[in-house]
Amino acid sequence: MIGVLALQGAFQRHVYCLEKLNIPTKLVKTREDLKACHALVLPGGESTAHQKLISPGLWADLKEFSHSRPVMGTCCGLILLAKKVKDDDMPTLGALDILVARNAYGPQVESFEAEVEGVCSGKPSLIKGCFIRAPQILEVGPSVNILATYDSKPVLVEAGKILACTFHPELLYDLTVHRHFVEMVNRNNLAQSGRFH
Ligand code: GLN
Repeated sequence: MIGVLALQGAFQRHVYCLEKLNIPTKLVKTREDLKACHALVLPGGESTAHQKLISPGLWADLKEFSHSRPVMGTCCGLILLAKKVKDDDMPTLGALDILVARNAYGPQVESFEAEVEGVCSGKPSLIKGCFIRAPQILEVGPSVNILATYDSKPVLVEAGKILACTFHPELLYDLTVHRHFVEMVNRNNLAQSGRFH
């Protein structure tokens, strides 16, 4: 079961994408919900709003979860996962060794759609993405593998059990990134118990 944090932002489309891949999902609003999940998606939205809506208990559980289980973050989700946010002392989960700048392409009117070239599921991929008040990854640590770039900047990265992108693949119904994540989850579950679902 893959959970989708459902407190704010674009969570519903992630459910759609995962269901298209025949993966059971659960909307996560509470600590109890999270307990039922093998993996989690942190959706796009507003990182400051998320921080207000996530209770201290759920935040502690998310921190532990993101350091031990597969987590995929899109846009705001990537910011929440980052180790450091530029010029901002907002608390983060710190599970992904990157320095990220929020709203790095400018205000809402500068949001755009693009095709991103990268490697997903081990093969060259062209991924459709929406960059909505998107962040930019400014630095990556040695553990981080860059899977796709746009305008010479990393936009999709992987490190251990974490997968994160600065854009929204789900809003354009592109399943490439979700498929890659499901493979990561399957590998992790196989390593742990030999079964998924
Ligand atoms: N600008 C948002 C933030 O800084 C992220 C935008 C998004 O998730 N589409 O949290």
